[in-house]
Amino acid sequence: MRKLGVALALLGMLFLLPLSADAQVKGVYWTASGVFGPFPLTDLIPSLPKEKARTVTIPVNMWVIDHSKGLVVFDTGNNVAISDGKCKSHWDPGMCDGLKPSQKRADVIDEQIKRLGYNPDSVKAVITSHSHLDHIGNIKLFPKAVHVIQKKELYQAWWPEKFQRGGAFVMGDFDGPARDFNYLELEGDYDLFGDGTITVLSTPGHTLGHQSVRVKLASGQTIVMAQDAIWVKENMEGYPAGLNYSVKDYNNSIQRLKMIRDLENAQLYYGHDPEQFAVGGNKWHR
Ligand SMILES: [Zn+2]
Repeated sequence: MRKLGVALALLGMLFLLPLSADAQVKGVYWTASGVFGPFPLTDLIPSLPKEKARTVTIPVNMWVIDHSKGLVVFDTGNNVAISDGKCKSHWDPGMCDGLKPSQKRADVIDEQIKRLGYNPDSVKAVITSHSHLDHIGNIKLFPKAVHVIQKKELYQAWWPEKFQRGGAFVMGDFDGPARDFNYLELEGDYDLFGDGTITVLSTPGHTLGHQSVRVKLASGQTIVMAQDAIWVKENMEGYPAGLNYSVKDYNNSIQRLKMIRDLENAQLYYGHDPEQFAVGGNKWHR
């Protein structure tokens, strides 16, 4: 009886303790919509010197963030239609031959969410870094979610500049019913749940309205998911990616992310880095 009293008293104290803002992210799961490759890294980064050339197979990063206010997905990977060798049914054949995607149906974001023990219909917000085919591919699987994207990026998706075309934007990923989704159209940074734990960061350059995400974990660790603001570690060494809307903005965004990493002692994860994924991928970060 006395033990019960103590337990009840402890329980009471638990409810009286104010929850810190940091405690609201229960975890971040890092996964991939299959891989691209193998191909020479110089295909992605033509500025890379010969001595740094290597053949790579790269992950197509996606993130699931479990927050006490709801489940959040950051990027939805390659469209479900390209799974199991059916790339050319949905993508430009040149993109299939160049990127060499391998994605099983089980790799697609809805199946991954189910495997983690959630219902894909319960996803509250889908943040899309940018409207390229390997990031916006499955927004149609989340018709009930709030879709968080930069307003400029939506414009660009529907009418890319001529020099930006060539198969990286797949209209079928965001046409039809996706036109009428609920978009939170951003013009800059945004504190998703108003508590400082999940912040959308404007990082243009790779595309007109690219955005990254910073998450403050319950442990106190901050992680920053750059996505395609930085593809791989070589971009951090001063070799810009070969596909950019604006190299000037791209460099400024890398500088911004480096500063955040250094000032906040954050972990900075790149959009397609095989070595980073081998260490941190397919697991929870808490
Ligand atoms: Zn990408």
